[in-house]
This record gives sequence, structure tokens and C-alpha cells, in this order.
Amino acid sequence: MPLNIAIIGSGPAGFYSADALIKACPDCRIDFIERLPTPFGLIRGGVAPDHQTTKRVTQKYEKTAMMEHVHFYGNVEIGRDVSLDELRQMYDAVVLAIGAPSDKKLTIPGADKIGVHGSAAFVGWYNGHPDFRDLEPDLNTTTAVVIGNGNVAVDVARVLLRSPRGMAESDLPDHVSKIIHAAPITDVHMVGRRGPADAKFTNVELREMGHLNMTAPRVKAYQMPEDLGAVLSQYDDRDRRLRTRNIETLKEFAECADEDKPKNVHFDFFASPIEILGGDRVEAIRFERTTVENGKTSGIGEMFDIECGLVIPSIGYRSEPIEGAPFDQKNGIIPNDNGRIDPGLYAVGWIKRGPSGVISSNRPDGVIVAEYIAEDITSDSNKLGRDDLEVMLKDRHVRWTGYSDWKKLEAMEVAAADGSAPRKKFVTVDDMINALDG
Ligand code: NAP
Repeated sequence: MPLNIAIIGSGPAGFYSADALIKACPDCRIDFIERLPTPFGLIRGGVAPDHQTTKRVTQKYEKTAMMEHVHFYGNVEIGRDVSLDELRQMYDAVVLAIGAPSDKKLTIPGADKIGVHGSAAFVGWYNGHPDFRDLEPDLNTTTAVVIGNGNVAVDVARVLLRSPRGMAESDLPDHVSKIIHAAPITDVHMVGRRGPADAKFTNVELREMGHLNMTAPRVKAYQMPEDLGAVLSQYDDRDRRLRTRNIETLKEFAECADEDKPKNVHFDFFASPIEILGGDRVEAIRFERTTVENGKTSGIGEMFDIECGLVIPSIGYRSEPIEGAPFDQKNGIIPNDNGRIDPGLYAVGWIKRGPSGVISSNRPDGVIVAEYIAEDITSDSNKLGRDDLEVMLKDRHVRWTGYSDWKKLEAMEVAAADGSAPRKKFVTVDDMINALDG
């Protein structure tokens, strides 16, 4: 019998694992188990809608999905339709590629006010993720504050500020563009608790902020480091080069201070959020100025407020526990030894190492797991994998979607697209299933 391997989650970490497993074990049968009817995880639901070139990586994933030994079981949720323990009984190995779908919580007073939306929810909403279809944020404000200096913060600020023309080639859903493009937002403040040299955004994403038609980047020149060498001494050569480029870009932005555009993105550094102010709704956010020494941030007692009607904490993501596997609450990951949880159970991507890195950072995780599986599963398999899974799902009346169902949904989305948009996304699971089943 061939080895039967289940990969839970069909985002980048899942696909790189499938790819590595096929190379290591060409006869394996590999099944993706995916909660949504659609594949590709964060590529579909997280990568910004105006970054279509990045989304094209799915063309490579599709080659894997179409391989003879690879099957896709979408609309199958662990805990609802099948348990992890049941999968472990049916499969020789189970690889958890379930990512980090939740927000790291902002724990300051007022963080639960109306008008505060964590970036996982907000990004999911503007990407048409079914979980966030009903978020309907109130964007009736001139000023928004994005907390954090990562790439997600940059994405959120850009999507809030980009004009309808700038979004024409995106797959921003209609219900989202109606709200965003009617919003009177003119100013977005992106506030980081460290200095500009410590910001986590990458240079391509930062530079894009200087190329928006309607928006000017605003940088406080006095916040730029005088002695860049000293500030960057803790970083390795590669990081130093990347961070130097960010400082150069920010300085260029500072030099264009008198550029006249109707909207502004304000970069503000050395400010830590203290409290969100207002009644039920956000009216302002209070920050404390910080200093950074030896990589540690501390407040200096100087407070300032930004009046705003929307706050998007973009301070990182968090994984959720899954029944049947251990969970490290403090670090928000499944405890693992470089991907091995137990012989037969493995973790890849953000559930393994936390929410960091770019898409391709997930590739090595897959290679390592393929090596572990080859080491751990040495006896002949007597497990039946998908044969048992399908019997169980049918018994439980689960309407799963195969990869061919996804291709039908995709064709419908492409056919429904307006103008130069690449697709019009289905944004609820019911709509997807109804479209498939007529
Ligand atoms: P991130 O890169 O970890 O950035 C999180 C930001 O939030 C940091 O500036 C962090 O500051 C700040 N922060 C954390 N806790 C905070 C708190 N309590 N108060 C104030 N600030 C706080 O996370 P991310 O932006 O969510 O991105 C996740 C991963 O996805 C990253 O690896 C990112 O590069 C990747 N991504 C890539 C792209 C792209 O390539 N275009 C797009 C989106 C996401 P400290 O540094 O002080 O901790």
C-alpha cells in the first residue's frame, strides 16, 4: 500500500509540503483537508487584493493539486466534520498547515470599542474571506490609525487610501469597495513603537507608498537616525542592507514634504499605544513616546493623542489550538521539534514557527517534514487514507468540494468579473455551494 498523508490546510505551507512529499515519495497519496470550499489560504484571503502578481504563485500550487496522487477535500472542518484523532487513524502521517488565522490581541484600555478592528479580521474582510463577510466596519471618518510597522500595516494603509482607479485591477469585493471608496478618509497614521530602522516592513512595500496617485507619504525627518551604523549594529549584513534601504526611502519621502495630494499617509515612529479614547466608539487614540535601547522599547512619559474614528491594530497574527494536538499558549504555536510533533503528526508554516517570513519562507518547512516522514514511517502501510475518509464524510452528509469544484467556482468568478478586475469572488460558503449544486 502507498503511504497516505493528510495535509490540513491548503495555504503556502501546505502546498510546499505536498510538493516536497511528492518529490521524496512519488507513490504517496496526498490529501488536502481544507475548511473552506476554496484552496490557497492566505494567498486568496490574506495577500492584498491589489497584489495580483503575488497571488499568481497559485499557478505553481495548481500543478501540485492536479497531480494524480493529490486530492483536495474542501469544506471539511476539523472538529466539525472529522477529528484530528480520526484522521490520524486513517492516515500514516498528518501534516498541520493551519496557519495563524487570529489577531494577536491589543491589550490596552478601550481596545474593544466600536471602530477597532484587528488586521486579521480587516484584511479578511477586504479580501472577501467568508469568515469576515459581515464585518461591515464603519469607515465614516476622515482619520484612521494603523498600529504596527509590518507589511500587513502597510497593506491596510494602502488599501484604505488607494483610489478606485488604483484598485481597478484588484479583486476587492463589491461590498467592500462600496464602503472603502465612499469613506471620507483623508489621513492614515501608521504608528510604530520602535524607530524607522527597526520597522519590519520590506522595502518594495514601503516604496509603493510613494507611488499612490492620491496619497502623499509624510515622514518626520527628525525621527530618522543620525548614526545609522550605530542603530543597525545589532543586525546581520543582510538585515542591515534591507533596513538601510528603508531609511533611504523614508528620507526621500521626507524630502517631498510639500507634495500636494488630497490624502496622506503619516509615518510616525517611537510611539506605543496606551489607550483608545471615546464613548462606545473610537474618538481618539493615546500614544506614549518611546526610546529604543539595545533593542528594548521603553516609554518616556510624553503622551499625545490622534483623533480618529478607526483603529486597525496590525500587530501580528496568532494560531488557534486544534483538538488532538498540544498547544503552547504563550508562543501561540504547536510545540514541535523543527516540525515534528509526534511520529505521524507534523507542523509546517506559521503553526510551527509563528507568523513571520514571506510566502517562500514556508518552502523549507515542507522539505524538513518530508524527511521526517520518510524517517518515521518505515513499516508497510495498512491505512486506507482517502478511501476511509470518503466513507466517513458520506456517512456524515458532508458536501465536500474537490479540486474540480474549485475550478468551476474559479471559472464563475472570472466570468463574473467587471472591467479589468481578475475575478468577482464568492464571499460566502453558501453561495459557493449553491453555485456548484445549482
Ligand atoms: P510583523 O511583521 O510581525 O509586524 C508586527 C508589527 O506590530 C511590528 O511593528 C511590531 O512591533 C508591532 N507590534 C506588535 N505588538 C505590538 C503592540 N503590543 N503594540 C504596538 N505594536 C506592536 O507582522 P505582520 O505585519 O502581521 O506580518 C506577518 C508576516 O506576514 C510578516 O512576516 C510579513 O512580512 C508577512 N507579510 C508579507 C507581505 C508582503 O511580503 N508583501 C504582506 C503581508 C504580510 P515590534 O517590532 O516592536 O514587535
